[in-house]
Amino acid sequence: MNKKKVIIVGGGFGGLRAAKSLKNADVEILLIDKTNHHLFQPLLYQVATAALSPGDIAVPIRAELKDQQNCTVIMGEVIKIDRENKIVYLTDQQFEFDYLILAIGARHSYFGNDEWEKFAPGLKTIGDALSIREKILLSFEKAERYYESSEREKYLTFVIVGGGPTGVEMAGAIAEIAKKTLLKDFRRIHPEEAKIILVEGQERILTPYDKSLSDKAEATIRRMGVDLRLNSFVKNITEDGAYIGDELIKTENIIWAAGNHASKITKTLNTETDRAGRVKVKSDCSVKEDPDIFVIGDAALFIDDNGNPMPGVAPVAEQQGRYVANIIKKGIPAEQRNKFSYFDKGSMATIGRAKAIMQVGNFKASGLFAWLAWSLVHIALLINFRKRYKVMIEWIYYYLSFRNGIRLIWKNDGLRK
Ligand SMILES: Cc1cc2nc3c(=O)[nH]c(=O)nc-3n(C[C@H](O)[C@H](O)[C@H](O)COP(=O)(O)OP(=O)(O)OC[C@H]3O[C@@H](n4cnc5c(N)ncnc54)[C@H](O)[C@@H]3O)c2cc1C
Repeated sequence: MNKKKVIIVGGGFGGLRAAKSLKNADVEILLIDKTNHHLFQPLLYQVATAALSPGDIAVPIRAELKDQQNCTVIMGEVIKIDRENKIVYLTDQQFEFDYLILAIGARHSYFGNDEWEKFAPGLKTIGDALSIREKILLSFEKAERYYESSEREKYLTFVIVGGGPTGVEMAGAIAEIAKKTLLKDFRRIHPEEAKIILVEGQERILTPYDKSLSDKAEATIRRMGVDLRLNSFVKNITEDGAYIGDELIKTENIIWAAGNHASKITKTLNTETDRAGRVKVKSDCSVKEDPDIFVIGDAALFIDDNGNPMPGVAPVAEQQGRYVANIIKKGIPAEQRNKFSYFDKGSMATIGRAKAIMQVGNFKASGLFAWLAWSLVHIALLINFRKRYKVMIEWIYYYLSFRNGIRLIWKNDGLRK
């Protein structure tokens, strides 16, 4: 008998977990990803701020699945899905499937202002992180070189849009490099000249957390020298800088951490999506028209029993990946499937060295204790993921001692005014 064909699109948290959970299943798996690596996004901001190298937080998908004989990995971008005929299209190839697991994650969204992207990159991929890193490092170089110029200020100004976990992490990390680490290496520019502005449309940062923790994070980030603008919106972004309301902040360094949108290919599924392009799925993570097509992780809109959407975090994607794999492995028909339920182990957000918040059920903590917990969890996850103990030990040392990170600038054409 022919084996069932399972296509997994995306080798991120959801897709990779699904593939691994199907290890002993009697199926043929084809995992397709447009990159060749699985990326540990939670530490991407550390690559963007030169504390880690790309190789520390990414691993080839092929290497992760090398011992899994029932799984073939190909690198390619899926551009369309024909739901009715069960075909996945790449530009020059097509593949049929019995089961589809769509785990394509999300990109940043500029809420209809896509032209802002070239001035205000977001942080989702290794490429994004490297270009942000390049921009930040070049900016300091320009400030030192053109110190006499009136433009110095714009090289030392950083605007981060969005006060969620990524925006807060970026603002905290830039404040640390600008005001502590990096400036020891420069002679002309001074720490107090660096301006880091964090813009948030709501009345508090880190809104998924309890208000008491948001308040603590707010006090911490302000103490670190970040100019936090709450209830503020970026109205426009141009090559001159960012307009916060009517005020123009002159800068070359704008980082976008304000919104997400699922890939356009979710539309080709021809099923219900929300405004962020996420596919509305049933309680078994399948689309309503076909019980053998599943969408998981950041690309899915899964409404829980309380009417709330599942958060876009790695554990949701992983647990959905494992859950869907179990359905496929056992061939469970639609009417006999238990609904997916998320086991929330808690959340943590870091603000800087020895500064973090955490919330696990009713337990809340902040400061050094939360930061130690955050570090241990991330280091454990990364070691498990990368098995590079030496790198991690070095990283902890450099991180805690504010020593050098990976501050190389690769482009030699970037130092222009
Ligand atoms: C900067 C940042 C920090 C984060 N921090 C945390 C954190 O601290 N804790 C936490 O729990 N979560 C965090 N998250 C969120 C978490 O990373 C996501 O929720 C998680 O990655 C979602 O998993 P996924 O499998 O849905 O998508 P992803 O892990 O994003 O994987 C999607 C995969 O699909 C591939 N792909 C996309 N489109 C196509 C296509 N058309 N064809 C082929 N392949 C395609 C991509 O290359 C990628 O490999 C963070 C995210 C970011 C960006």
